[in-house]
Amino acid sequence: MTHQDRPGDVAVIGGGLAGGLVALELAERGLAVVLISAASLGAPNPLGSATSWSYAGVLGPDLGAWGQLQERHGDLGVRRRRLYRHGQARLESSRLLPWARQAFGQVDLIRFYQALPLVLNRLGVRQLQAQVAHPLRSLGGLWQLELLGQADGSSSLQVGQVVLAAGAGCRALWPGLGESLRSSWAGILHLEAWPDPKRYPSRWLRRARGGGVVLPQAMVRPALEQRAGALVQEEWVVDPGLACLGDGLLVGQISLVRPGLELGAPPDPALMESRLRQALAHFDPGLAELPARYCQVPVSFCLDGKALAGPVAGAPGLWALAGFRGAFGEVPRAAQALAHQIDSSLASPCQPPGAPVG
Ligand SMILES: Cc1cc2nc3c(=O)[nH]c(=O)nc-3n(C[C@H](O)[C@H](O)[C@H](O)COP(=O)(O)OP(=O)(O)OC[C@H]3O[C@@H](n4cnc5c(N)ncnc54)[C@H](O)[C@@H]3O)c2cc1C
Repeated sequence: MTHQDRPGDVAVIGGGLAGGLVALELAERGLAVVLISAASLGAPNPLGSATSWSYAGVLGPDLGAWGQLQERHGDLGVRRRRLYRHGQARLESSRLLPWARQAFGQVDLIRFYQALPLVLNRLGVRQLQAQVAHPLRSLGGLWQLELLGQADGSSSLQVGQVVLAAGAGCRALWPGLGESLRSSWAGILHLEAWPDPKRYPSRWLRRARGGGVVLPQAMVRPALEQRAGALVQEEWVVDPGLACLGDGLLVGQISLVRPGLELGAPPDPALMESRLRQALAHFDPGLAELPARYCQVPVSFCLDGKALAGPVAGAPGLWALAGFRGAFGEVPRAAQALAHQIDSSLASPCQPPGAPVG
């Protein structure tokens, strides 16, 4: 089966936070959008989406962009939360000092994943669950997307514009993306229901119970991301933290980064879980024993902390939106800016689409 789409249509690949919000912004501008994602847009799921297993924390100044989204589309799950921080502050952390005084929020991912498909549907976005075959091919000025794993077999799609919002899957789709874009594996423990506080006494659990989010004063993951370009062997770090997910709880997080550009195979989950539990035992022994399931997902990032958001160099009609350091804070604005760029480039095809990324 072949869908012949109008060349002006936009295909967004990736149904996580970046793909979901850019599809929404594009559709609001009247563009015909198809959103294709290997993982379903339903409830949080373990099928390779970083968004599904995120703490989804949002720093105070970034809550405004979410507020505007909610004014236009209703409740997307953004909630004010109390932020509890543990450990020593690092003075060189530029994000730390504002943190201490700021409001804090969290996106309730259960609500987000319930609301987003409905909002997209209302805006006329076609939503397909399929894996896009890689690498992408372009023929006669149109992108030829091969869709694998659909209910009715494989199919293909021709579109004029493609947005790469596939997180750690972006590089496989377009290997020419710049070397700043990297990927890591991040793991957490997931409990579907709140544990019995008598059996698992933990002061951090008590704090998170009322809807609080617990994070280190200074996360070590960003430093690992920064030195990823110089790694000669894989490295992992643990940032102990807690956040609620629906009626349950996420406790994490372990991050593993490898040298080079490729994501590689998932690390051994048993080894990663034991590393995470050992680190948690030092932090708060009550957490290390929790009867939780270990989950790990690939997470994209950029070495310099500057996400890819713009046209891809040397590939007309191809755009990227990936590699965020503080995705839940940055993506709403970045998705809006990218949708504006794409819309403008379609309205004035002779104008250059802006500085290329990657
Ligand atoms: C434990 C943990 C805690 C975190 N806490 C925070 C936090 O508090 N605040 C914050 O801002 N960020 C946090 N993050 C990071 C944040 O979750 C991610 O940066 C963000 O969700 C990435 O969103 P994305 O849409 O770019 O990628 P993803 O959510 O990974 O979405 C990419 C999608 O593309 C799909 N895909 C990939 N390849 C293909 C293909 N070939 N065809 C079709 N579909 C494809 C995947 O299935 C996936 O659904 C956390 C992450 C983790 C793991």
